[in-house]
Amino acid sequence: MIKLKNVSKYYYGKGVVATGFSKVNLELNLGEFVAITGESGSGKSTLLNVISGLDTYEDGEMYINGEETSHYIEKDFEEYRRKNIGNIYQSFNLINSYTVYQNIALVLMLNGEKDIKNRVIELIKKVDLYKFRNTKVSRLSGGQKQRVAIARALAKDVPIIIADEPTGNLDKRSALSVMKLLSELSHDKLVIVVTHNYDQVAPYVTRKITMHDGKILEDVKVKDIDNKATYKPSKLNTLSIFNRFRLGFRNTFNIIPKFVLLLLVFSFIVGALMSEYSSFRKEETQSKEEASNVVFKNKSVNRIVLKKKDKSVITDNDLEVLRKLDNVDYVVDNDLLLDTELGLRDEDDNYWVRTFIMPYINFKNTVDVGRLPENDNEILLEMNEDCYYFSYERDKMLEKEWFFVNDYNETAANNKKLKIVGISYNNHLNYDDIYSYVGDTLQKELKVEIHKQFSDVVINFYGKNHKVDRYSTAFQLTPSDRVPVGQAYIPERYSYLCYKNDCLWSTFDVTNNNLYYKDTKTFTISRTYNKKNITSMVDIPDYKKDNFEFQYDGKIYINTQDFLSLFDKENYQASVFVKDKELVHDTALNINKLGYETLEIKDTLVELGFAQYIRIIKLIITIALVVTLFFISYFIIKIILKSRNTYYSIIRMLGGTKNITTELLVIELMLVANIAYFIFMIFVYINHMGMINVKLFTDIYEVFKVNDYIILYLIVVGMAFVSSMRYSRKLFKDSVMKSFKEEV
Ligand code: ADP
Ligand code: MG
Repeated sequence: MIKLKNVSKYYYGKGVVATGFSKVNLELNLGEFVAITGESGSGKSTLLNVISGLDTYEDGEMYINGEETSHYIEKDFEEYRRKNIGNIYQSFNLINSYTVYQNIALVLMLNGEKDIKNRVIELIKKVDLYKFRNTKVSRLSGGQKQRVAIARALAKDVPIIIADEPTGNLDKRSALSVMKLLSELSHDKLVIVVTHNYDQVAPYVTRKITMHDGKILEDVKVKDIDNKATYKPSKLNTLSIFNRFRLGFRNTFNIIPKFVLLLLVFSFIVGALMSEYSSFRKEETQSKEEASNVVFKNKSVNRIVLKKKDKSVITDNDLEVLRKLDNVDYVVDNDLLLDTELGLRDEDDNYWVRTFIMPYINFKNTVDVGRLPENDNEILLEMNEDCYYFSYERDKMLEKEWFFVNDYNETAANNKKLKIVGISYNNHLNYDDIYSYVGDTLQKELKVEIHKQFSDVVINFYGKNHKVDRYSTAFQLTPSDRVPVGQAYIPERYSYLCYKNDCLWSTFDVTNNNLYYKDTKTFTISRTYNKKNITSMVDIPDYKKDNFEFQYDGKIYINTQDFLSLFDKENYQASVFVKDKELVHDTALNINKLGYETLEIKDTLVELGFAQYIRIIKLIITIALVVTLFFISYFIIKIILKSRNTYYSIIRMLGGTKNITTELLVIELMLVANIAYFIFMIFVYINHMGMINVKLFTDIYEVFKVNDYIILYLIVVGMAFVSSMRYSRKLFKDSVMKSFKEEV
């Protein structure tokens, strides 16, 4: 049945070649119970491994049922093993974390057997371990373990049982019962046993082979074979899908420390990825904001900004001429509006979001929530459907009252109460851009605030210049009808600026300097205010009365008329929007001929190209980090998985194919990766619910969209997949015995 002709096996070490055995000739048949003896190192194990197909051979030819095997590749040996061989080892090679039942059932599962349960129980009874069927193998004695190994070898109905010193670790009595069990099997099988103690097997064997120094020294027939069995290889089925998952799940959880370690590694991967990705995303949106901060916020390539060459005011007449030019779609006078951001705040001060102001006539979209504005105090918002702000309660927004506010939270547009009556979704917009469409009157009222934002205001107080910062209330000129013309009310705490700490009736200059004009006005300080008397001097809006932060409030109140004469100026700049953006340059040239300086917004976007490069570089860095992360984690995973070498080698010894083994490995790692990801998501969620407060989780919740979660999930799961594939490739690079021995 098995025939070896001049077969040799060498081991290639570092520069030396060791002989496992050389020029062995041998024929073995069914019904035989062969004992192989010989001193240690004589090549017995090597011979058995070659016969088992667990190790390769170099010279000669091995025939299996007449078929040559020298051309076999690993896959052929896999099939051969699965059909023919049941192995029993001195060191048992059981899966210690499995129970007796699970160890035996494993072979049947790997072989795709259907009705496993009865067969396993029958086998367990046969080796007399019924009482221990649900005991973990690690708790059994040596003799019991070897009986489990025998039951496992018998589970598949294979023609050849190979046992390498099966009694080497057993006491005399256990050894005897094991040998007896084996001899019973040899009626219809070929049983080959390596033993040091020939006397133990002498009563049962039919043949005795003695090895010495890699050669067969003696081969004697001890007994006639009484039974001529026929060769009947085991059927080849494969592990069912259901059982693959069952095994995969069991493997994931049955060694707790390993599971915890892997979970930690994957949690680290998920955490590092998430934090890297979220900071990349944040920077991305920030760099967009920075790029758009370069004066022009409305970056339509159809836009041409213009002003008179002589810096004079743009009149209605001029606008009329511009409107009639070829390719002009519409003209926006007072176009600073397009580049201004204001705050939009609700009556309860719950929301404060940035918004661009747009003239309502430019609204081209459709309304998705609510309706179009009809009154002057009604506004319409346009934003991305996934806009960060207002992601909840969009309906409620329509019920509240709103204010436009400037950078230091002072209401603009004469404290006008606004209604948001409609929302329009435009998914071309950035996630954090909100456009507020306003009607004519409101637009005019906002003009003052907008001009103020675009002006450099300097207050000269006792020979010292104070530049007014648009983000703070210090020195902010604030209109009030109750201050007499030409006078000013200043905070009491500014007294230190004046001679002898007394500011009353002294004067100061205000200079408003912008692109188009420079204007200076002089004011006389007629009163100073403090927290107590302020309310009797000027009107404080209701919402401010309760939390009036007097100590920070540095506003200078002047008469509304004075205020308007400083900031409510004529129009010096306008924008033309063209119909055909291809012709924008020609249109600009035409406008130029009419006496205007023009700026095509498309030319300003070159800067954005630069930002694009920065973004690409950041993306490359992020990818490099992900790759580094992968190698670091693979290194750790590899170390952890090393403890699984035994397990996967045993699976292979039992006839698990490369595919199945790989799949089990994939399921094991994927499952851990999924759990790690899921746990992380739970943390993000409970952080959002306010039960914990971790910045990373908050950032993720704010910045991530469904896409991002999916991308990161795929990266994490992909890492688990690639790790298991790589590891399995490493595992299968060598023959079973080589990779098994590597870690034993
Ligand atoms: P036995 O089982 O009879 O004790 P082995 O078959 O294990 O002997 O070993 C036979 C010879 O092959 C010995 O000289 C041993 O040193 C050598 N050998 C066995 N395994 C390896 C290996 N993995 N690498 C190198 N040499 C080996
Ligand atoms: Mg040996």
